[in-house]
Amino acid sequence: MGNLIDGKAIAEKIKEEVKKEITELKAKNIIPKLIAVQAGENPASVLYTNQQKKNCEKIGIVYELKNLPADIKEEQLISEITALNMDKSVTGIIMQLPLPKGMDVKNIQVSILPEKDIEGVSPVNMGWIIYGRPYLAPCTALAVKEVINSTGVDLYGKNVTMVGHSDIVGKPVALLLVDKLATVSICHIGTSEAGMLEEYVRRADILIVAVGKANVIPGGWVKEGAIVVDVGINRVGDKIVGDVEFETAKERASFITPVPGGVGPVTTAILLRNVVRAAKWKKRQ
Ligand code: NDP
Repeated sequence: MGNLIDGKAIAEKIKEEVKKEITELKAKNIIPKLIAVQAGENPASVLYTNQQKKNCEKIGIVYELKNLPADIKEEQLISEITALNMDKSVTGIIMQLPLPKGMDVKNIQVSILPEKDIEGVSPVNMGWIIYGRPYLAPCTALAVKEVINSTGVDLYGKNVTMVGHSDIVGKPVALLLVDKLATVSICHIGTSEAGMLEEYVRRADILIVAVGKANVIPGGWVKEGAIVVDVGINRVGDKIVGDVEFETAKERASFITPVPGGVGPVTTAILLRNVVRAAKWKKRQ
């Protein structure tokens, strides 16, 4: 039976390091400050921003929520972000999603200054991943890497299957791991509809799944001894489950993340680490 990867323990370790770094920053009169921008009301976002505030304040990061009207125009939102870009007291900016209808999320993400883009979604920060120098990379992608590192596996020459090719998870994870000389396959709906998904999953020494569909990966497909990182978050009745059929997969895997309690808490800790990284941003070359 596979070892459960304790995401909360990994997150606690990261947060301890972040706390130390914040103390050092404060000794130099640098106070990390995160601004979350919210356009319109959304009950799920309220829960999320309350949690963000708690996490930040617990660790010594100042957190402010900037509420803007739901009917704000794209240009107005961009000028609000530009003002935050120019405000020297602001370390990091998060744009809460979903945006009001009709807005182009990419236009908003591009408008955040790369050094304040603590979610790692701007093209500049994405580009640094391709250059093999990730710094403010997307939090979940960095979290997946931390989770894999926690198993002690050497990625060199391993077969990695990444199921899901989103900008914030699948694509950056694949790039981060290919730089460690793993052989990475990226699968998506096209792989699935071509009937090839099972083959790619069965060959994976390391399987990462970020799809958002409960049990999309049958546990029986998991290679004996594989490392399984399940990023998916799905509500089934009153339960939260991942994308991998957990009970069968855990009998075959050497290591597996639970959902909840796996990648999620690590992602939260990485967001805090990215705020500190933003505070320490130096011109990159
Ligand atoms: P997206 O919806 O952006 O991407 C989903 C990906 O899965 C796409 O590449 C899609 O392909 C692919 N896909 C859909 N159906 C299938 C299928 N049947 N077989 C193979 N591939 C398929 O999602 P995200 O990457 O944003 O998130 C994925 C999941 O991870 C969600 O459950 C989300 O809640 C969770 N998540 C968890 C986080 C955490 O911290 N734990 C953080 C971020 C996300 P195509 O686009 O071609 O349809």
